[in-house]
Amino acid sequence: MENSPTIAIKDLWFYFGERAALQGVSLSVNPGEIFALLGPNGAGKTTTIRLLNGLYLAAQGQINVLGKDPRLEGSAVRQQTGVLTESNALYDRLTARQNLVFFGSIYLLDAQELEQRTDEMLAFFDLRSRADEKVGTFSKGMKQRLALARAMLTKPKVLFLDEPTSSLDPESTQQVHELIQSIRDQDGHTVFLCTHRLEEAERLADRVAVMNSGQVLATGSLEELSRSNQPGLRVEIEFLNEPVTTIDLTNLRGVISNSVTGKALALHVQEESVIPFVVEELVRQKAAVLSVRPVKTSLEEVYFQLQESARRGTK
Ligand code: ATP
Repeated sequence: MENSPTIAIKDLWFYFGERAALQGVSLSVNPGEIFALLGPNGAGKTTTIRLLNGLYLAAQGQINVLGKDPRLEGSAVRQQTGVLTESNALYDRLTARQNLVFFGSIYLLDAQELEQRTDEMLAFFDLRSRADEKVGTFSKGMKQRLALARAMLTKPKVLFLDEPTSSLDPESTQQVHELIQSIRDQDGHTVFLCTHRLEEAERLADRVAVMNSGQVLATGSLEELSRSNQPGLRVEIEFLNEPVTTIDLTNLRGVISNSVTGKALALHVQEESVIPFVVEELVRQKAAVLSVRPVKTSLEEVYFQLQESARRGTK
């Protein structure tokens, strides 16, 4: 069981009336992984979280969370998961501490354990000094930290986070990102993150699934996605002086294309091992090389390529 995926979905379909919100979704999440489900509004991210927690029942397909089928054992699954919803679902008229105690008692933590866990969570999420103030007086960032504390209260094995930073300013966003990372790093929780923020997925996720219109367009680490989307590697070479326009490397084995702009050469090569031969050839051609920099494809590029291919029906 140790190595089996924490979450596994195969060919999952779900309908709201006639409309298919999920159309054959398959994905798996490994233990201790931060996995991001990325996609525009309406892609089906929240629906997927609800299905994984047994709050909606799938029409067709296989679904397994922590070795259980949430359709059959929804409440057993929910005992072991924590969910941060888009609306943080806190009571403004209760204090931070009262909110945690209230939600903890729903999950049957005993009074002493609950008190201890509440204190731990208030400390971990830096809310101790405001613990006995009403949540209605909190900033959005503080509310979001409290909502995370609530989701973490029962020490869940899997934490589902639906758009955890969508209404936060850059400072609070950074704080929440650091907390998510430390939740995983300290306790090895598996985190299933839904977001439309590409930089959030790029920063936090070990692997991502890109969704659109209820379908998964691609799954993998950023490196895997960029390799399958655009084979090869881009390299930027800078020279000390112009002109470099006479330089042509396309006869060199492994070079797909090159284009020169001012003192820079943009190169597309088949793989990393081609770069030393490129440098050797440039030196032979007496070009004054200043720097050679392989360019990482950003998640943004991969994401938009995938969405564009899906729009054109080529994926
Ligand atoms: P967002 O980021 O906007 O929340 P999402 O990726 O989470 O988007 P879902 O909320 O899962 O998307 O919605 C998927 C599809 O199902 C959309 O077409 C949406 O309109 C539809 N949908 C969601 N909830 C309902 C509902 N309660 N009744 C009918 N249709 C719904």
